Amino acid sequence: MELLFTGGRVLTIDALDRVVSGVAVRDGRIVAVGDDAEVRQAVSPDAAQVELRGRALAPGFCDPHNHFSMTTFEPRSVDCRVPPLAGKAGVLEAIAAAAAGCPPGQWIWGLGYSGGGRELGAALLRGELDDAAPNNPVCVMDFSYHACYANSAAMALGGITRDTPDPRGGEILRDASGEAAGMLWERAMNPVHQASMRAHIDRLGPDVVAGLVDQNARRHLSHGVTSVGDAVVMPESAEIYRLADERGKLPIVVHQMRGGNGFFAAPEAAAEGSFLADDVSDRLRGGIVKLFMDPVFPSFTMTKCHPDGSLEDVGTPYYEQDEVDQLVINAARHGLQTAIHCLGNRAIDMALNAYERVQREVPREDPRYRIEHFFFGNREQMERAASLGVMISHQPAFLYSVGPGLGAYAAENGIDSTVLPYREMLDSGVTVASGSDFPCAPVEPLLGLHSAVSRRSRDGQVVAPEQAISAREGLRTYTINSAAAMFRDHEVGSIEVGKRADLVVLSHDPSLVTPEYIREIVVQQTYVDGKLEYALGAPA
Ligand SMILES: [Zn+2]
Repeated sequence: MELLFTGGRVLTIDALDRVVSGVAVRDGRIVAVGDDAEVRQAVSPDAAQVELRGRALAPGFCDPHNHFSMTTFEPRSVDCRVPPLAGKAGVLEAIAAAAAGCPPGQWIWGLGYSGGGRELGAALLRGELDDAAPNNPVCVMDFSYHACYANSAAMALGGITRDTPDPRGGEILRDASGEAAGMLWERAMNPVHQASMRAHIDRLGPDVVAGLVDQNARRHLSHGVTSVGDAVVMPESAEIYRLADERGKLPIVVHQMRGGNGFFAAPEAAAEGSFLADDVSDRLRGGIVKLFMDPVFPSFTMTKCHPDGSLEDVGTPYYEQDEVDQLVINAARHGLQTAIHCLGNRAIDMALNAYERVQREVPREDPRYRIEHFFFGNREQMERAASLGVMISHQPAFLYSVGPGLGAYAAENGIDSTVLPYREMLDSGVTVASGSDFPCAPVEPLLGLHSAVSRRSRDGQVVAPEQAISAREGLRTYTINSAAAMFRDHEVGSIEVGKRADLVVLSHDPSLVTPEYIREIVVQQTYVDGKLEYALGAPA
């Protein structure tokens, strides 16, 4: 099977960042890159031809931090985002409508409620959810995915009673009488969240679940994404991937970033090498452990600086320093990569300390240790990461969705970091891989690229414009750097001879349009291993 692309702007993202006009592909691999005449010679005259007519061809986007397994059930869930729903009342109405068509006892899973945050008054309360769905267990995820809201039936199935103590690293919000009020923060959400996912898998059965995985993969392909790292694989996530893979329903590559038994559970077993068989197939891979260093609720693990110069430590980390060190060291002894979620500046320090120690105790040539998010890091921490060879896995679309809020938070709390400091990160020499964190931020790489280049948020504010990077720099973070974060740069991430033909046809070259218009660029075709897996306008 041969394929020939000609007449385009082929953004190779190779070491010289060459732009050429053509690419030839044979049996899923790139066999020639160059001008049209050169690439024509590399294949037979009857190769399938794609005339790019000036459109751009880029490497398929790699999304190293994406909660794919959590969005797989979206078609069977209730969309609880506000907006479009009108506040809490709108969400409760949507839950009631879902309950009306649902057999008693069947779980209702809501996604994306954003009314909670730090204001408990906006939380969905247990009694309110009981009224909306008196005969069904209900679990509504907060948009942060660091909390959920549950009714009485869901609490009962999750084993949460009045006497259940708060787990370490989590809190059961309680009313004045001491009863669980409905909101479960961080680790406290694990049992309800996991029970909901478990029940969905069991009720829908393997074929439907595999079909949902395939649908979700096709949504990602429609945005040009050809591989994802699932940033918390719990046992249920691993199960759905295997169901899909066995049935040939995995059209993209998924890297399983192993967590524990529950979304925020400690990945002790993973660090001890229990999942070395996660390299299941060419499409379903493993080799990386994910852990959370700090929570969102009630606060990131942060050192704040007050106006009088005094410092205050807030936000309890999930692990003591020695505990995180041990997890990372154990993982290293099994040859595993580690990715640590860090939002606050103190969490970032703890992760860097762990990586420094592991390289002393279990030195490895190229371990590609990762810090996820790095939201409130400063220049010194970037340089420290660079000197340790630690990669930063960042998500530019957060600038679009919550950028101004992050900036206000840093300013209010005297934190010496800038919102998504892309210019500074690249200048510090640290390798930055860009992804989405979907569903916590929008999934589209072109929207993220738009944010990194234009620095414009959803409401039109320009956030820290001095941190803008060029479209070509941004594309590199979404392709070759993201591939490297997943140990895939030898096979994808650039358009070079010998690599897999994971390619995306874009209506325009992002480096030739005004920054504000990057998000208007259309993904027209997506290829995985030289096979057309998405085409604009093609029947699903
Ligand atoms: Zn995440």
